[in-house]
Amino acid sequence: MIIVKTAEHIRKVLADYSPFDPRVAFVPTMGALHEGHLALVAAAREMAPVVVTSIFVNPTQFNDPSDFARYPKSLEQDILMLEAAGTDLLFLPEVSTMYPKGTDQLPVYPLGRLEQLLEGHYRPGHFQGVCQVVHRLLDMVQPGLLVMGQKDYQQCMVVRQLIQHTGLAVQLQIQPTIRENDGLAMSSRNRRLSPQQRQQAVVLFSTLQYLARNARRLPLLTLEAEAAQQLLDAGFGTVDYATIADAHTLEPVSDPAPDQPVVALAAAWLGEVRLIDNLPVP
Ligand code: AMP
Repeated sequence: MIIVKTAEHIRKVLADYSPFDPRVAFVPTMGALHEGHLALVAAAREMAPVVVTSIFVNPTQFNDPSDFARYPKSLEQDILMLEAAGTDLLFLPEVSTMYPKGTDQLPVYPLGRLEQLLEGHYRPGHFQGVCQVVHRLLDMVQPGLLVMGQKDYQQCMVVRQLIQHTGLAVQLQIQPTIRENDGLAMSSRNRRLSPQQRQQAVVLFSTLQYLARNARRLPLLTLEAEAAQQLLDAGFGTVDYATIADAHTLEPVSDPAPDQPVVALAAAWLGEVRLIDNLPVP
């Protein structure tokens, strides 16, 4: 595995590949890697002969500075894991490489309702930061395939919109959520949970299962109130949302048509750790 820190170095290593060549698959991450990230690398491996992974904790997507300061880091272990998983090229940029003119005057992207709904509402500016970093990474890596996880459902929608808006010739490949044995979605933030919180955290998944199982049977207002209560009873401090939304727009639904694709989504706090997850409704 080759480790590079600049766009020039990437271009040198990928000199045999044209920009946005479908033989180059890219997996952007913020490090503190787990099996979910490695599954993306494995999927990328299946799709393309060259796999590029990046590790960059992007300051512009953290609406909460203390969340940024406490974001877990394990670079040495990450490097070993990526090497074993078959990454060819690891891109490890500095903040000054990503944002050479600083972060004050970065582009603003038209995200419409996605910026107001769910994560957009609870994390103001977060999706602008996601677009800023993904756009910059795509400009530098120039992959034909971009591999991301459905764990961040709304982020996938935002990135799809970014690709449409920029017209970049990259194809988004979304991969299923990898879970612990008890169902908890793998997440770098799980490392910050105490042993007791780790046990409580599984209720996020069982609540999504409850929502998904009943979304087409029970009145949604009642169901969502029950879901929030389940989380509070399990020890979650604040429930940002536990809801059923339209799978294509993320608009709230009150009475889904039988053929309307819908998804259960939740975000809730255990102490100072905010967890999110989602589950498509059959
Ligand atoms: P992050 O490092 O959290 O920014 O995540 C980097 C990529 O890994 C994103 O595309 C995430 O959606 C994806 N990802 C994170 N957790 C999981 C998971 N449990 N299963 C699958 N993909 C994941």
